[in-house]
Amino acid sequence: MSPLLKIDLNRIRYNAAQVKQKCHKFGISVLGVTKGFSAIPQIVQALLDGGVDGLADARMENIIELRNQGFCQPITLLRIPRLSNVDNVVRYVDTSINSEVTVMEALGNAAEKKGLLHEIILMVDVGDLREGVLKEHVLDTAKEISHLKGIKFGGLGTNMGCFGGVLPSTENLGLLVELQHTIDRQLNIKLQVISGGGTSTLSLVEEGKVPVGINQLRIGEGILLGTDTTNHRTIPWLYADAFLLEAEVIELKSKPSVPIGDIGRDSFGNIPQFVDVGVRNRAILALGKQDVYVEGIEPLDKNIKILGASSDHLIIDVTDSQKQIRVGDDIAFRLSYSGLLSASQSRYINKAFIGGPI
Ligand SMILES: *Cc1c(COP(=O)(O)O)cnc(C)c1O
Repeated sequence: MSPLLKIDLNRIRYNAAQVKQKCHKFGISVLGVTKGFSAIPQIVQALLDGGVDGLADARMENIIELRNQGFCQPITLLRIPRLSNVDNVVRYVDTSINSEVTVMEALGNAAEKKGLLHEIILMVDVGDLREGVLKEHVLDTAKEISHLKGIKFGGLGTNMGCFGGVLPSTENLGLLVELQHTIDRQLNIKLQVISGGGTSTLSLVEEGKVPVGINQLRIGEGILLGTDTTNHRTIPWLYADAFLLEAEVIELKSKPSVPIGDIGRDSFGNIPQFVDVGVRNRAILALGKQDVYVEGIEPLDKNIKILGASSDHLIIDVTDSQKQIRVGDDIAFRLSYSGLLSASQSRYINKAFIGGPI
């Protein structure tokens, strides 16, 4: 029943396999990032069937759920851990990304107590200004990490295109590789993993411009949606419609395009503005802000336009659609990353799977 998130597992598996193949050609392994779809197990399995080398998620809740479901693949925690949660992190996760020595020390202590060795990837901020130590502090931090008990210093990583929208480049990724060499020369530590970002690095892979030495990417958006928001493109060799959201028409009427009466505030406190384009055919769908991040969905039919939404109603203009739309019909939408984030975890949106395990 709608609203329905239709999930094509064959397309997701295909996308994962394509990304893996392109990356493996350059000696780059691929972590399949599961946070964009709340780690729904059928989709996680499709990533694994496509051949990703490991899994990664930002949420401990998702990771614990995956472990409880029996997924025993290596998992990397993609949000730097909370000091208050180190026991869970070392228990459920093989590797975490980190930037605070205090936290890494606590992870090490927690791991030692359990007789474990916890792997950390030191995040380096090459300019995007989200997590990571600045390059001038990397060597000192590396030295401190090398003294920690219970910790395996696995490598260096960076993140781009998230806060600052900084694009990956041969230069900023090259910096990571240089830092790896400096750590080797000065501290005699051989780091195994150099993790060069996510989907936004794929365009460099395609062009063969990823510096030698980068040997891991953490890919979510590209595999799931076939898009690369940071570079503002759809990825031509991937499916962009593995996920579709459908919602049902509950009213269909011709109405003026400008409301009648004095204008106060809408249901979210904003003062709405309207352009008079005459009488239009409008449909109301049983879908609203409570179900999905409305700015993150786009009608599959290019001739349909979203006019607005309240908590439970989505209003669309269907005047220009070539299709004869009726009450009871389902209207399909593509999702952006933020649309998928919200739809996948909404308890009001049903999920249906097309295709299945191979
Ligand atoms: C979410 C996330 C990713 C995946 O990014 P995509 O753009 O979805 O490929 C990679 N690394 C980190 C640290 C993340 O938080």
